[in-house]
Amino acid sequence: MRFETERAEMIEVLRQKGIWDENVLRVMGTVERHHFVDAPFVNRAYEDSALPIGQEQTISQPYTVAFMTQALQLKRGEKVLEVGTGSGYQAVVLALLGCRVFTIERHLPLVARARKTFDRLNLHIASKGGDGSVGWSEFAPFDAIIVTAGAPDIPPPLKDQLADGGRLVVPVGDREIQKLLVVRRTGSHFTQQEIDGFKFVPLIGKNAWSNGGK
Ligand code: SAM
Repeated sequence: MRFETERAEMIEVLRQKGIWDENVLRVMGTVERHHFVDAPFVNRAYEDSALPIGQEQTISQPYTVAFMTQALQLKRGEKVLEVGTGSGYQAVVLALLGCRVFTIERHLPLVARARKTFDRLNLHIASKGGDGSVGWSEFAPFDAIIVTAGAPDIPPPLKDQLADGGRLVVPVGDREIQKLLVVRRTGSHFTQQEIDGFKFVPLIGKNAWSNGGK
C-alpha cells in the first residue's frame, strides 16, 4: 500500500485549512505517514487527526505539524531541536526540509523505534532518550526549537538555548488545551505571538508538568 492518493488529498486539506508554505507542503507530500502510526490505524494515516503510536502517546495531527513547521520559517542547514520525538514523523519532516535535527523523547521504546525509522530512511537525525524540558545544551544554540507536547509555561532553558534570530514554537496552557506560542529571539530580546486552540499530550519533566500524566 502506498497511499499516494490519500497523501495528495491530505495536502489539499492542509492547503484548504490555510497552510501556504510550499516547502512544508511538498515535504509532507512525500513522507509516508502510514509507517509512523500503530498497525490498526494504517488506513487512517492520512486523516487530519492525531493517532496512537504506543506508550499512550500520539503522532500529532498533520495540520498541527504543518502549522508549527511553517511558523518556524526554516532555512536549509539550520540547526533544529525537537522536544517530543514520538513517532519521528515531525523530525523526518524537519530533516527533509534540509535542517540538522536533534530530537529528545522521554519514552525510550519510542526513541528506539524512531531511530530505526531514521536509519531506514537514511536520515542523519541525532536523538536521545530523556527530558527535553532542559533542552540539549551540548548542541545549543539552536536556530529553531519545536516542542510537540503541552507545557504549563515556556521551559526557561529552551529560551536560553535559542540562537540570536532563533524561533521557538511551544504549546502552553493547562493539561487539556493550549495556545501555541511562537517566540523570536533578537539578542537578549524576545517577542511572542499566541495562537489559540491546540491540544497536545502533556510535556512531563523538570521544567514542565510533574509525572502523573501519561
Ligand atoms: N513529534 C511527534 C511525532 O511526530 O510523532 C509527536 C509527539 S507527541 C504529540 C509528544 C511526545 O512528547 C510524546 O511522545 C511524549 O512522550 C513526549 N514528551 C513529553 N514530555 C517530554 C519531555 N519532557 N521530553 C521529551 N519528550 C517528552
